[in-house]
Amino acid sequence: AAGTGAFPHAHSRSAALHERARAVMPGGNTRHSVFFPPYPVYATHGRGSRIWDADGVERIDCMNNYSSLIHGHGHPAIVEAIQQQATRLTSVALPTESEIELAELLVERLDAIEQIRFCNSGTEAMLFAIKAARAYSGRPVIAKVEGAYHGSAETAAVSSQPGPSRWGPADSPASVPDAGSTPGVAADVVVLPMNDVDNGRRILRGVGSRLAAVVLDPLVKNLGFKPVTQEFLQMVREELQACGGLLVFDEVYSLRLGFHGAHATLGVQPDIIAMGKIIGGGLPIGAIGGRADIMTALFDPHAGARLGHAGTFNANPLTMAAGLAAMRAFDLGAFERLSALGDRLRKGLREALRIADVEGTVTGATSMTGFFLSGKSMSNYREIAALMGADPTIARRAEHVFHHLLNHGVYMGSYGFFVLSTAITEAEVDYIAETTLAALRTLPT
Ligand code: PLP
Repeated sequence: AAGTGAFPHAHSRSAALHERARAVMPGGNTRHSVFFPPYPVYATHGRGSRIWDADGVERIDCMNNYSSLIHGHGHPAIVEAIQQQATRLTSVALPTESEIELAELLVERLDAIEQIRFCNSGTEAMLFAIKAARAYSGRPVIAKVEGAYHGSAETAAVSSQPGPSRWGPADSPASVPDAGSTPGVAADVVVLPMNDVDNGRRILRGVGSRLAAVVLDPLVKNLGFKPVTQEFLQMVREELQACGGLLVFDEVYSLRLGFHGAHATLGVQPDIIAMGKIIGGGLPIGAIGGRADIMTALFDPHAGARLGHAGTFNANPLTMAAGLAAMRAFDLGAFERLSALGDRLRKGLREALRIADVEGTVTGATSMTGFFLSGKSMSNYREIAALMGADPTIARRAEHVFHHLLNHGVYMGSYGFFVLSTAITEAEVDYIAETTLAALRTLPT
């Protein structure tokens, strides 16, 4: 069974490690996203669905490194592939057969891609997807949805977390540069209100022939796993058809939505998709894929490619070996079984809300589940921000649930989500729902 551990706990080894880390890393960290107050627990090892912290506490891992660990920790076939590859070759300034193998598997599996290029993170994949769209079209402007996270590349990060003082009118959101970016970066980005067909159409028409691409994540995690509607997608496709821009899907996270890619579940063919996370088997990876004519024009030296794409660690054999082993083990049966476990968790969480008589919303699909402690239906980033601002009990209650789960053997996303791996069992899923029920029964007012 998953362990229990008092948190926060002044004498814990994690607390001491965090103090030590703060001397040499700002905030004691290199990823703001893995910090939670007063200090994050420090991991020592993992196996299957479980992780252990520096105080020896065992937990079910419902983060799976922000979704990248599709098979959890230490999957035997992935470990063996890494071990074998590590003794042969880890990185080299030459191509290897291993990248062809992973490319072939992904091209065969994912509907929208005929060719692929590898890089090292989802951030880089989005950076290259945006550069590719601009280079191919010869146009400057990128459109994205307000509040959608697409990694840290400057253009992609515009308006990913705008505040009310700068975000402009709801029907024409301002392009807000990320901290450290210039207004010049934001000037080449237009921001669409999520799933707002009429205003989206008007904004895209305003850009017209300057539009290089619309960038969309089919399931927006930081809007509580909100899906892009068919109507919105249809509108985007129509407008792109009319003006000649490209459709870029950011499937870095939402690749988990469909065995043949998120796009395959939506019946829409994007021109380019950005990928990452699960395709690297737990090692750092990113990739961009798309139609062969686009990929060839941009990247093929035989065809006079226009877009440089170097990268010391691109397609390094170690990541390729891990990714190949992970993707081979993630067959259709594994995908369907994992999706059923996700359904079971969502059902269990809804049941927990009902029994505890607590207002809340359970969202998500397949292995990704959002858990939000308000029953109000919210359609976009502003409505979520306004509600969180107006009702501080939502954040307090969410923090209580997070800490209760942390102290009872479950590590969920502190922003209110669960991402499962194939290593999880039905009994563990039921335990997560039961533990959530116990947390809901002791909610602060
Ligand atoms: N795009 C989306 C939708 C993501 O969720 C993420 C990461 O969470 C990224 C891009 C960036 O990927 P990475 O963290 O590998 O740079």
